[in-house]
Amino acid sequence: MQEIAKEYDHRLVETKWIERWDDSLYYFDWKSDKPPYIIDTPPPYPTGSFHIGNALNWCYIDFIARFKRMQGYNVMFPQGWDCHGLPTEVKVEELHGITKNEVDREVFRELCRKLTSENIKKMRETMKRLGLSIDWSNEYITMDPSYYRKTQVSFVRMYENGLIYRDNHPVNWCPRCKTAIAFAEVEYETRETSLNYIHFEGVDIATTRPELIPACVAVAVNPEDERFRDLIGLEVGVPLFNYRVPVIADDEVDPCFGTGIVMICTFGDKQDVRWWKEHGLPLRRAIDRDGLMTGIAGKYAGMEIERVRDAIIKDLKEEGLIYKEERIEQNVGVCWRCKTPIEILSEKQWFVRIEHEKVLDAAAKIRWHPDYMMVRLKNWVESMEWDWCISRQRLFGTPIPVWYCKRCGEVLVATEDELPLDPTVDAPKRACSCGSLEFEGEEDVLDTWMDSSISALAVGGWLEDVFIYPTQLRPQGHDIIRTWAFYTILRSIALTGMIPWEEIVINGMVLGEDGHKMSKSRNNITAPEEVMGKYGADAFRQWAAIGGSTGSDIMFRWKDIVAASRFLQKLWSILRFSLIHLDKDKAPYERPQKLSTVDKWLLARLNELIESVTADMQSYSFDEAMKEIRSFAWNTLADDYIELVKSRLYAEDSNGRESALYTLYTTMDTLSRLIAPFMPFFAEEMHSYLNEGSVHAREWPRVDRDLLDEESIEKGELVRRIVEAVRRYKSENKIPLNAPLRRVEIYTSVDLDLEDIKGALKSEVELVNPDTTLEMKAVGIKPRMDVIGPTYRKEARKVADAIERLDPEEVERVISDGGKVEIEVDGKLISLDSSSFEIEMGFESRGERVDILEVSGVKIAVMR
Ligand SMILES: [Zn+2]
Ligand SMILES: [Zn+2]
Repeated sequence: MQEIAKEYDHRLVETKWIERWDDSLYYFDWKSDKPPYIIDTPPPYPTGSFHIGNALNWCYIDFIARFKRMQGYNVMFPQGWDCHGLPTEVKVEELHGITKNEVDREVFRELCRKLTSENIKKMRETMKRLGLSIDWSNEYITMDPSYYRKTQVSFVRMYENGLIYRDNHPVNWCPRCKTAIAFAEVEYETRETSLNYIHFEGVDIATTRPELIPACVAVAVNPEDERFRDLIGLEVGVPLFNYRVPVIADDEVDPCFGTGIVMICTFGDKQDVRWWKEHGLPLRRAIDRDGLMTGIAGKYAGMEIERVRDAIIKDLKEEGLIYKEERIEQNVGVCWRCKTPIEILSEKQWFVRIEHEKVLDAAAKIRWHPDYMMVRLKNWVESMEWDWCISRQRLFGTPIPVWYCKRCGEVLVATEDELPLDPTVDAPKRACSCGSLEFEGEEDVLDTWMDSSISALAVGGWLEDVFIYPTQLRPQGHDIIRTWAFYTILRSIALTGMIPWEEIVINGMVLGEDGHKMSKSRNNITAPEEVMGKYGADAFRQWAAIGGSTGSDIMFRWKDIVAASRFLQKLWSILRFSLIHLDKDKAPYERPQKLSTVDKWLLARLNELIESVTADMQSYSFDEAMKEIRSFAWNTLADDYIELVKSRLYAEDSNGRESALYTLYTTMDTLSRLIAPFMPFFAEEMHSYLNEGSVHAREWPRVDRDLLDEESIEKGELVRRIVEAVRRYKSENKIPLNAPLRRVEIYTSVDLDLEDIKGALKSEVELVNPDTTLEMKAVGIKPRMDVIGPTYRKEARKVADAIERLDPEEVERVISDGGKVEIEVDGKLISLDSSSFEIEMGFESRGERVDILEVSGVKIAVMR
């Protein structure tokens, strides 16, 4: 017998195991014969805080990793860090009160690296606190040379295969961040703006972007529009800037918008880019990389976009060229990071060629969970018109391994053996084909998705001694399907011709308690640390499992956390009870020759549980698995089984004690393994009282088909229901639960084992042939005051008393013979028919009054 505290103390238990656990238990073995299970985990941005959305995602990964490990796979749950990018640069500028151009390039990059390392350290703490079974021997940090060498090699190989090129092409440009951004980084917002109706020389045009008038290269009309048919092929004058542009026809022009004539600029939006390409129009670059007007804008040159807009409107008005203004709502593309409206500039940039069909073919070979998430990728790929712009005009990023010859301008791309390198620091070890040895290193860096889109390759061991590919699983949020999932598939196909993963499982976002997306402005953010501080990691993890189905957005609710913590206490109480009877030294218990009915029933239920939880885990239905485990432990095990076998467990000499001990031990041991993926701390603590070693090194429970025996389930279920019915009877009749009944008769031909029923009911229990008829007799008589009152008025009370004194059996006989009952009140004889009273019928067994209950067609006679 082992005694444990009454209350479960999550602080004590979780702290203890964090200290004791050995990380190497979770290391991937590159030489193992076991089937590999490599998870291409998301590398988070090292912001310094591991938020609740990350925590949900990582809990899912941990459930899978622990499950697969117990199933005998060689699991890799690596941890990456996606370091590069703008957020870190902005933070460094903020922290040190500098802008990146004020300090030396290398000094600035060093500050970024330092901040990143500090933030990673903080986030690792939260991850450990959550009990994640991360393989820290496979950690990667994208800013480390060992990682970005791979990014650079991937660049070089794709360049050599013609999949990466440098070109002048319109790109999305954030004037505030001063960098090109990819389409996936453009968000759309509805903003109100004014539509200005302007007299051009010869035509009237309505535009929301008068500041782009100097970039106007043509005006367009719809060829079907009768009004303007004659204009096609002519030229019109551009106001304020005094040059002429052609009028072209294009059926994409909406005759109902504005005046029906549009101005085509390089570039107001994506449609301008399309027209510019289709009609081979010239380029007029009016805005530069800093968001300032160029020389082409004449007297407005050097002005910022917002200011030039006001200035041009003012000048147009002064010359009487604006004749109408309308307020309209417009969908504006903004930078995902700073929400500044983006501009489209034509710039020399590096691009990755997008091969739509190849990506879609590969995506179709991957199993998606939930499967409808693939549609999102498909829609995105089909909507992409431009290649992926991968160069960024920033500092903190993987250097593009390229030089330009100072003499002839030729592009020199590094060779693989030169990598990793920074072309602004390292010079090529060879001459240009023109013979020159003077080069300029590329200053632009790579889009951070260029690093993270080879994560699957990196964790699989690409460019290392052992390369295991494709990986088995990609877990990620639905918000980055069009970026991370898309780019990874594209790069994997380009570099290996293989899909990156066999399966992808998508998690939803976490909503606040108010049902809205968590945000600072709504003040509805909950940090995982706060939850774990109050209720522990196991409670948090249960919420993650049970909060909703995989893929759907799930709400954070404190009441779910409280429910989870109650379940831990319940399990603890079950364990506490079990330990009164179980002895770790005797483990594992051997199965006795004969198992009692109720034990067989529990073991069958347990095997059903193993079967369905295993299936749930395989289909990532963590919520279902958790619900089934809770319901089994709470209802089947605690409420039903333990109540049924208590007496057998306490009776030292009982025949059935061995059978109960074996069953209880097997169930507790199995439960500790089933909960291990979800509640690793509690499971380990529970297991430590039952067995040697770590539960996380144990095997996942297997279904024992011999125990899934229909007959045992039926018999056990009948016992359970009989006991439940009698207990309900007791409580309805205000009889204390532990008070014995005189006798309980069960009318069935099923050969029931009565020991547990007797024990649970603390009463004599007999099986009776179900064909035995129970005698029905009149057992009481009740006057009906609603009839007697109006008839006998003052004498009513006396009449009622007289009725109550009658012998029910006799009254019943008289009435059923069609007769009347006579009573005497104050010397008068009164004759009554059956309307004046009610005869209460009841049962008797062996001459004694019994109450009859019925469960599943079986009668139970209870004698008080
Ligand atoms: Zn921006
Ligand atoms: Zn040269």
